[in-house]
Parts: sequence; C-alpha cells; structure tokens
Amino acid sequence: MNDLATSLSELLADPTRVLTQPQLVERLSRDFYWYSPILRPLLDGKHADVVVQPISTAEVIATLRFCYAQDVPVTIRGAGTGNYGQAVPLQGGVVLDLQRMDSLEQITAEGVAICEPGLKLGALETTAREQGWELRCYPSTIVKASVGGFLGGGSGGIGSIAHGALRDYNTVRAIEVVTMEAEPQVLLHEGEAVHEIIHSWGTNGVITKIWLALTPAVAWAQCVIAFRTFDQAFTFSEHLAKDPTWTKRLLTVFEWPIPSFFSPIKTVVREGQALLFVLIADSQREALESFATSAGGTLTHSAPYAGLRSQPLLSDYTWNHTTLWAMKSDPAYTYLQCGFDPTRATEQLTLLKQTFGEEFLHHVEWMKNGAGTVFPAAIPVIRFTTADRLNEIIAFCRANGIGVANPHVNHVEGGGRYREDNAQLQAKYRNDTKGLLNPGKMATFERKQAQPA
Ligand code: FAD
Repeated sequence: MNDLATSLSELLADPTRVLTQPQLVERLSRDFYWYSPILRPLLDGKHADVVVQPISTAEVIATLRFCYAQDVPVTIRGAGTGNYGQAVPLQGGVVLDLQRMDSLEQITAEGVAICEPGLKLGALETTAREQGWELRCYPSTIVKASVGGFLGGGSGGIGSIAHGALRDYNTVRAIEVVTMEAEPQVLLHEGEAVHEIIHSWGTNGVITKIWLALTPAVAWAQCVIAFRTFDQAFTFSEHLAKDPTWTKRLLTVFEWPIPSFFSPIKTVVREGQALLFVLIADSQREALESFATSAGGTLTHSAPYAGLRSQPLLSDYTWNHTTLWAMKSDPAYTYLQCGFDPTRATEQLTLLKQTFGEEFLHHVEWMKNGAGTVFPAAIPVIRFTTADRLNEIIAFCRANGIGVANPHVNHVEGGGRYREDNAQLQAKYRNDTKGLLNPGKMATFERKQAQPA
C-alpha cells in the first residue's frame, strides 16, 4: 500500500475499501470513452492512484477533508458507463467510487424516490414498479448505471418522449451535495438550484442524497414495425410522436443497415428495411398494430412488456446502445448526438442523407423538450475517417439548424449541455476553490489562487 492509501484507509471503518491493486484501480478509472476515436488516444492509460469506496456521507466528508488538505484530486464514479471520459481521472489521485452507497430510503406517497447515489437505476425502476411507480426517464444503461451517475453525467433516454430529459419538469427535486473544502459542507439544493450541480461531471460537489420524482407505472407493450424505407418509418413515427393520445415511453427509428447490427434479435429484423421500436401502453397495442399495418408497416414483434427481464429488451438496442451494436459490427463506426427542428426535420434528414450518404446513418429518438414540444433527437451512426471530417460533419449540421452535443470532447462545456447562466461554474468556484474535483473537466474554471495578485 502506498502512503496515500495508508492515510486514506485510516479514515474508513473498513480499510479494505481502499483499493490499490493496479488492475482494479485501472478498471475503476475507466468509462466508455473508447466509444470516441478522438477521446480514445487522449484518455488511454489515465488512472487514479487509489480507489476509495465510502459507505456513508461521513466517509465522503472525511475523504474530501483529507484530499483538500493534501491537494489530492478526486474523481467521482458511479458505475462508469459514461461515454465522454467523464469519470476518467486526468491527474491521478483518488477515484471516489460510490457504488456501495446504494440504499433506497423510501418512495413517498407522492412518488418521489429518496436514495443514495450508488443505487442502480434498474433496481430503482424494479422496486418502483412494484409500488405502482416507474422512472420518468432513464438511459439505455439502466441495469448498470447509478442514479448519481445519471445526475452527474447523463441526460435522458427511454421515457423522455413523455417526460422530457432529466433536467426538465422538476424531475430532480432535490440533492444533497458535499463540497470540497477544508471543512466540507453538506448543502441541500432544491428546485432550480439542482441545475448548479447536475450534469457537471462531478466537478463541483459530490451528490450524496437524491430526491427523484417518478411517474405512475403503466402496463407497457414492446412493438417492432418494419418499413420498406426510412422515410416511411420516420413519417409513421412522427404521427405517433405528435399525437398525444398515444401513451408512449420509447419511439426509435433506425435506417437500414443499422438493424443488421442487432445480431441477437435477427427475428425482428427484415433485410433491407427500416425499423421502428415502440414502447406503447399495452391497452393501445391492438390499435397500434392496425395503424401500422394500414400505413404499410410489417409488425415483426408485439408483446406485453415484462420489465427489465423482457426478452428481447428493446431498450438494449436504442439510445446509445445502438452505437455499441454498430461498433461491434464494425469498429470504424462512431456517433454524434443531434437535435432536429420539429418543423423541418424531414427536410434536414433528407439533406444529411443527400450530403453524406452511407457515412451518416439515421437513428432517431423522439423526445419532448422542457417547453412541451415533441421533437426528433438523434444519435446517428457515423463512419469515422478523420477528426477533421468529423468536425466538418458537425459544422454542416450546425450550419443547417441541426443541434449537435459533441460527444468527442472531454469537458462539460464542449459537450453542449453547459448552462448559459454559468451556474455550474459559479458552484465550482464556491464548492471547489482548489479545483480538485475531476480536474480538467470544467474547462472554463481557473484556480484563483494560481492567478497573480
Ligand atoms: P458514471 O459514468 O460513473 O459518472 C458519470 C459522471 O457523473 C462522471 O463525471 C462522474 O464523475 C459523475 N458522478 C457520478 N456520481 C456522482 C455523484 N454522486 N455526484 C456528482 N457527480 C457524480 N446516457 C444517457 O443520458 N442516456 C442514454 O440513453 C445513454 N445510453 C448509453 C448507452 C451506452 C451503451 C453507454 C456506454 C452509455 C450510455 N449513456 C447514456 C451514458 C451513461 O450510461 C449514463 O449517463 C449513465 O447514467 C451514467 O451513470 P454511471 O453511474 O455509469 O455514471
């Protein structure tokens, strides 16, 4: 054990929760940054010196107090499923692995889950459904990902078509946050103030307790519909998306050949055809089946949803899981994250196809924004050649009114989710004056003490 580990182990009730075994430390220093051909060479080999696994807020406080005094960087980790190297330490130090702080205190009568950050989203969803509630939105990594990691680095996913992204509709009701100071404080952020901390990649405080609003559970069905062309599939999806009488949780459209990457579910795929994946209220399943058939679609799968154990589990192929299947099929594939103009989406999608052809494969995820507008977001599969070409594609999208949250950058601001009011940066100046929390990931932060007087 090195000196740092020895000192840290004296702070915890059980010293075996300080990990130094190199392979373990390296594994717990990684996330899914390798999705990006740009980030891969930048982040390969980066790792912490030590991993600390606290089981309580008191142990988080003790660890931060020590690290502040010793100028040791601290990178918070949930389950390490982030895509942009969010949880990869750039300057060594401690990885604060919160997976053992995973208790669910309660689900209130109003449907608010009160939990610790290491709780798995999948475990929360399963318990919530047993009690008549379910998550409003969740990433396709639901089984592995933690609630705290979703707040720290995620944005939305399944359910976002009805409930918007995680940042919308007061879904994150409140959080308790531990600051990185000589004497760490535990601060309660409620309502709008949660936005000072969430999606800040663990750069401005450690979330140790969460109040997350749920929604009443629905008996869902999973349906897959094949269409001869992407345009047909997209047009049909638009009807479903924009008609509020359909109760939906997921609405995903894939251009061919994306469905050919889904090797475990070949039975739902039709050679050469576009696919639509839908999670719809089971009570509307028959109506959907006849609507789809009348629109020229072929139903290739239709069954009641049996929770996260459903086979197949359609969400495993949607959102950013689609990119994973593409990369398994051919490592030259990568991705972007786009938002289309709801009034010009068909035109924008056609323009991209005409301009980039097979280099840009359409994968659309319908969502609702905070103002209540339903719009097509997308995680297109991109055939990567060079960084310059990727940047050209991003610039072309932006020039044509298509928003891009660039997943190939390793700081909060570059990802496109940075708030214009600078609330996250201001919180960093208050909570982490030495810049020890996940250093390098909030690019606009400057350590004030380092500046000339
Ligand atoms: P981690 O990766 O461990 O952490 C994420 C960030 O949050 C890090 O910067 C970390 O420092 C910070 N953090 C973690 N815990 C805390 C805490 N307690 N306090 C403060 N900061 C903290 N994301 C989506 O939004 N939607 C998707 O549909 C989606 N699909 C994905 C599919 C695949 C195949 C993959 C690999 C990733 C996907 N992601 C998606 C990204 C990621 O899975 C989610 O954002 C997930 O919620 C992250 O949770 P985690 O526990 O793994 O967080």
